[in-house]
Amino acid sequence: MLRITQTTLGAVRKCNHWAECGELLLRAGVGGNPTGWKSAAISANGIGNSRSQSSMTSGESSDNKRQISSSSGTTNNSKPEDTSNTSSSPLTDKFGRFHSYLRISLTERCNLRCKYCMPAEGVQLTHKDNLLSKDEVLRLASLFVEEGVRKIRLTGGEPTVRKDLTEIVERLKRIPLLESVGITTNGLMLTRQLVGLQRAGLDALNISLDTLKAAKYEQISRRKGWDRVIAGIDLAIQLGYKPKVNCVLMKGFNDDEMCDFVAMTEERHVDVRFIEYMPFTGNRWDTSQMVPFREALATIRTRYPQFEALENGPNDTSKAYGVPGFRGQIGFITSMTEHFCGTCNRLRITADGNLKVCLFGNTEVSLRDALRAGCSEDDLRCLISAAVKRKKKQHAGMLNLSQMKNRPMILIGG
Ligand code: SAM
Ligand code: SF4
Repeated sequence: MLRITQTTLGAVRKCNHWAECGELLLRAGVGGNPTGWKSAAISANGIGNSRSQSSMTSGESSDNKRQISSSSGTTNNSKPEDTSNTSSSPLTDKFGRFHSYLRISLTERCNLRCKYCMPAEGVQLTHKDNLLSKDEVLRLASLFVEEGVRKIRLTGGEPTVRKDLTEIVERLKRIPLLESVGITTNGLMLTRQLVGLQRAGLDALNISLDTLKAAKYEQISRRKGWDRVIAGIDLAIQLGYKPKVNCVLMKGFNDDEMCDFVAMTEERHVDVRFIEYMPFTGNRWDTSQMVPFREALATIRTRYPQFEALENGPNDTSKAYGVPGFRGQIGFITSMTEHFCGTCNRLRITADGNLKVCLFGNTEVSLRDALRAGCSEDDLRCLISAAVKRKKKQHAGMLNLSQMKNRPMILIGG
């Protein structure tokens, strides 16, 4: 583990060359700790900062253009974002990928216990003093927007369990240049909170739902609440959103419901996204549980032969499909069988303040510790740039990922 000291940061404070700063920071590891710099550690061990843990456990609005993008229906036609003016940005990595999308996890807590996300034994929660405060979230968000982030999604854990969620959305919406603020939620609290969130300016929402059968919901989420989620989805549609409905496909659990989800898009203005089941620490993933994209596509086409590929936006992680005449659409998030690392524009900040440049990478840097040690904005830019420059070209492949140490998904924020 490398430790970056404040002394080292001081030495690069005036430097405007982000790549060089990055190098300097990454070579850091010597020096004292004169002013209380704690541990903005870049680690390769899965958890980059000094996690103080308690003994508790816890468990876009896209348009609906119908354009066929390839006859086989399996090509992702998205073009990478124009990065001509961003090559020297701290948010550009060494492969030229500019990161304009930030996901911020607001909490490690959740009111569900989904089997693919939350380990059966629960997770150790970070003490609340060591989670990012509202002001810290806002300060980091503003800095990332200054550097070119245009879209922020709040996630968790379950972001709606955080009492200041509406205020955070409202304050994020005041940041000039930020174009979209969204949340990813399990939907349980939407009937109570969505009107307020919309007033606060919420632009987009993703709602997770893995089954259309109430009885099966409890099997996967280990809690009740299916009807509340459906009510939340319908409320979102009534309020004018086109929610994305995230559905993790799992063999033997919901692979028999794929066509029912497609049927759901006939009348409902939703974008159902089938997500390939991904390995994270504690979820006992194996390939036999995964429904590969092409298999899902073939199954759906047995009932909907006209199921066709639609146009994708730049940097889309999902491959868009739909049935002509249906109000909603389908997307496939093929992280395992056809990764989209080449156009990745996403960065993540965990609830405990670590910057994670890749969902499947275990190198992290603690922005929380840097903030709390009194780092200037330039120091923070250097730290961020260093981490972004270290981003790998692509993830290691599903079999390697399943062997790799990473956080459980609930502690990352999807
Ligand atoms: N609690 C919120 C929710 O469920 O939408 C936000 C956090 S959750 C970690 C974000 C997304 O990650 C959800 O759509 C969830 O289905 C997805 N997810 C969690 N674990 C996953 C896994 N192992 N493979 C694929 N997707 C996963
Ligand atoms: Fe909670 Fe979302 Fe994870 Fe389910 S997927 S346990 S709702 S954080």
